[in-house]
Amino acid sequence: MQKLIDKAKVEHTLSKSEIVEILKDNSLNDYLFKTADEIRKNYTGDEVYLRALIEFSNICRCDCKYCGIRRDNKNVSRYRLKKDEILKLADFAVQSGYKTIVLQSGEDMFFTAEYLAEIIKEIKQNDVAVTLSIGERTFDEYKILKEAGADRFLLRIETTDENLYKKMHPGMSFENRKRCLYDLKSLGFETGTGSLVGLPEQTVESLADDILFYKELNADMVGIGPLIVHPETPLKDEKNGDLILAIKVLALTRLLLPDINIPATTAMETLHPQGRIWALQAGANVIMPNVTFEKCRKNYEIYPDKVSVDYSKLERDLKQIGRTISKKHGFRGNSDSPLTRHFVPPSPAGRGKNNNIAKTLRKNVTPQELKFWNIVRNNKFQNLKFKRQYPIGKYIVDFVVIEKMLVIELDGGGHNTNNQQKYDEERTQYLTSRGFKILRFWNDEIDKNIEGVFEKISNVLQKKGE
Ligand code: SAH
Repeated sequence: MQKLIDKAKVEHTLSKSEIVEILKDNSLNDYLFKTADEIRKNYTGDEVYLRALIEFSNICRCDCKYCGIRRDNKNVSRYRLKKDEILKLADFAVQSGYKTIVLQSGEDMFFTAEYLAEIIKEIKQNDVAVTLSIGERTFDEYKILKEAGADRFLLRIETTDENLYKKMHPGMSFENRKRCLYDLKSLGFETGTGSLVGLPEQTVESLADDILFYKELNADMVGIGPLIVHPETPLKDEKNGDLILAIKVLALTRLLLPDINIPATTAMETLHPQGRIWALQAGANVIMPNVTFEKCRKNYEIYPDKVSVDYSKLERDLKQIGRTISKKHGFRGNSDSPLTRHFVPPSPAGRGKNNNIAKTLRKNVTPQELKFWNIVRNNKFQNLKFKRQYPIGKYIVDFVVIEKMLVIELDGGGHNTNNQQKYDEERTQYLTSRGFKILRFWNDEIDKNIEGVFEKISNVLQKKGE
């Protein structure tokens, strides 16, 4: 069997019967994990990508037999976050340094594609990737979400055993699940799928089919988790999934799809305190800490005793196993590792329509803007990263220092009219509500007293820093 693992290490292919053989035999588990770990290192490097998870609604039209927030569980206190609450959580995640925001929910049709698109566009004003995990929608809906700027989508196939799929998902169709995944792929989403390991009657053969399905789809991400029995579901008398088997499926997935992103899932840590770390040492390279409000989190109980990521513990644990937390977006194939193919991420990840306007404006620069820009560009002023003509929400600001949440506007005569004043006020209000501080200067001040202008900026920055 060692030969099989060695073959997969080089060729990244295995037949169904070969996968089954490896899954059934536990004598070489350590070798399998070690090999997957090596492949992970060679293809995706030692950096671990963190994705901030926002569970924005636990309302669901589906009745999946294993899931604690299934439609028929009447003992769930249902919630649905408001747009500004979601944006607040996303802002918090951005400020904390996350480069991906994952929006996850039950299949809550209150969130139309159009409404979600508004939320996505707002979040995409920041330099972050957006991942959606909201279940099944039509091609047209997925298209709206993609055009709004969403980068990735997670939709587990859960199981490729069609009969089992039907039993576990009343009223849903396996065909439609697959259709969704292929639609997502064709629309250019980085597409994630995956399985539950330990469903009743699930066979090792069907797990092998699952892995081959990820390969056939050419999934960009694969999330695998053991089933954790929820007492208020029809599966309440079943056993939890086998953690080691789940990690084996993960390791085999890494061997067959060497450059993809694979999370060490919360369900793994829920079954064993070391579960997440073991997964990271058997092929995983992603962790998804939950940033949802505490009061909602306990109601998003897809399974019981869901653990949270303890950030300082995580940092310590990662250090111990020679891994670091990445500051990058972590698109597939976008690591510094030697074996990674050169992949150009959709960067600066499609900031929506505004981005084009911003580009046009950038060309028609006023002499005062140019003067200002020449002083601040390339981090020349206090080593701060100034950006110009930068879209925030529906507005485009003259200059911004994102890390300081500071906006600088240069005004010519045009800002004197009543209408313009009203517009400026609304704009100021909006930007302030997003946490920005706005400084306005007249073109005249730039012309005649540029030192005074920068003194004011320094003072404000100093105050902010206190
Ligand atoms: N409604 C979205 C998000 C589902 S939650 C969607 O359908 O994609 C994300 C994942 O949690 C599911 O895909 C499922 O695999 C997993 N999950 C649900 N209940 C679980 C349980 N009891 N134990 C372990 N994982 C579970």
